[in-house]
Amino acid sequence: MDHALPARIRLLREVAEAVTREVIAPQAERVDRDAAWPEQSLRALGEAGLLGLTVPRHAGGEGEGLEGLLAVTEAIGRGCASSALCYAMHCVAAAVIAAKATPYQRERYLEPIAAGRHLTSLSLSESGVGSHVYLSETELRRDGGDFVVDGLKQFVTSGGHADSYVVSTMSSATDAEPGEFSCLVVDADAPGVSFLEPWQGMGMRGNSSRGLLLEGARVPLENLLGEEGDQVWYVFDIVVPYFLTAMSATYLAVARSALELTVHHVRERHFSHTGSALADAPVLQDTVADMWARVEKTRHLVYHAARLGDAGDVDALPTILMSKADVAETAVSVTNDAMTLCGGAAYRENAQLARLLRDARASHVMAPTTHTLRQWAARSILGRPLL
Ligand SMILES: Cc1cc2nc3c(=O)[nH]c(=O)nc-3n(C[C@H](O)[C@H](O)[C@H](O)COP(=O)(O)OP(=O)(O)OC[C@H]3O[C@@H](n4cnc5c(N)ncnc54)[C@H](O)[C@@H]3O)c2cc1C
Repeated sequence: MDHALPARIRLLREVAEAVTREVIAPQAERVDRDAAWPEQSLRALGEAGLLGLTVPRHAGGEGEGLEGLLAVTEAIGRGCASSALCYAMHCVAAAVIAAKATPYQRERYLEPIAAGRHLTSLSLSESGVGSHVYLSETELRRDGGDFVVDGLKQFVTSGGHADSYVVSTMSSATDAEPGEFSCLVVDADAPGVSFLEPWQGMGMRGNSSRGLLLEGARVPLENLLGEEGDQVWYVFDIVVPYFLTAMSATYLAVARSALELTVHHVRERHFSHTGSALADAPVLQDTVADMWARVEKTRHLVYHAARLGDAGDVDALPTILMSKADVAETAVSVTNDAMTLCGGAAYRENAQLARLLRDARASHVMAPTTHTLRQWAARSILGRPLL
C-alpha cells in the first residue's frame, strides 16, 4: 500500500519516522510512566518542519490534507501514541484555523505554526454535553472590542502546554438555535484562562488532557473563526474529517505496534522442555493470522477513507466515520489478543504492550464515539439528517 502514497507525503513521513526513531520513541516509556507531556517530541517535530503540515502553502505550511495527516501521524504513533495525539490535535486545530483564516489570523497563528514556533490544540468537549461535542454550553458575549467567554472545557489535549486553543462556544446571538456554535482561537495567556489539575489518565498518559476554565476570558473579536454560529461547516467539513483521520492514524499505529510486538515475542519465546517456539503452536498461528488480517483491513479502510476525503468523493463521509469506528475495534481487540499471546511478559507493570492496551482504550470514547459514528454513518447511508 505504501507505493500508493504520493512522493511528497512519503518524504514527509520519512522525516516523521526519523524524528520518531531518534527523539520520540526513546521518551515513550517515561512519558507514560510519569504522565509527562512529551515536550521534546513536539519541539523536535517543530524543528523538523512538521507543525505546519495542515497549514496552507501560502502561509508557509505543507498544505497537506487527510492522507498526509494520516501518514505522518501514524509514523509518530508507532513510537508514542501520546505524542501522536498531541501532534494530531495540533494539526486538526491548525486546519480549523486555516479553513477561513483572515489576514490577521494567518499572520498571528498560521505563519508561526508553519515556522514551528506555535503549538495549538482543539477544545470542544464539555462535561454537560459529554461526547456530543457538536453542542456547546460555553457562553460567548461581546464586550467592546472583545468577546468574553465563560465555560469549562474538559479533556483538552496539550492542556497547559499549547500556545493557543481552538474553542467552541454558543453563538452570542440571542436568537441562536440550540446547537449553533462558534469557534474562536483563545491564547493560553489570555486573561481569565486557567487549567484544572494535571491529567492522570489510564492511557494516553502524556496527553495532558486537562480541564480548561474560561472565567470571563477576554478574546479579541479578530479571533473568531468564520462567522458566528456557522457550526455546520466546521463540524462536517473540517472538524470531523481531520479529527477522525488524526485519531484513526494514532490508533492504527497502536494496533500495528501491538501486532509487531506479538510477532516478535511468539517467534523468540522458546520452551526448554521441547525447544519449540510459541510460533510453532497452531492455535497461536491462527490468532496471529487473524490479528494481521484485522490490522491490514483496517489500514486499507483508513487510507481509502482519507483519499476519498481529499478527493471530495460523495462516499467520503460514511467511509471516514466508519473507519475511525473500525480502528477503535481493531486497536482494542488486537492489543487485547496481543496481551494473551505474549503471556506473563506482557503483564509486567509498564510493559510496552500493557501501555498499548491502555492507550487503545481511549479510541472508543474519544468523540465522536463509536456509538455516535455508527449512528451518523447509518443516517448518511440512509439519507437521513446526521444531527
Ligand atoms: C485521551 C483523551 C483525549 C481527548 N482529547 C480531547 C481534545 O483534545 N479535545 C476535546 O475537545 N476533547 C477531547 N477528549 C474528549 C473526548 O473527545 C470526549 O468528549 C469525552 O471522552 C467524552 O466523555 P464522556 O464521559 O462525557 O462521554 P459520554 O457522553 O458520557 O458517553 C459515555 C458513553 O456513552 C455513549 N453515549 C453517549 N450518549 C449516547 C447516546 N445518545 N446514544 C448512544 N450512546 C451514547 C458514548 O458513545 C460513550 O461510549 C479526549 C478524551 C480522551 C479520553
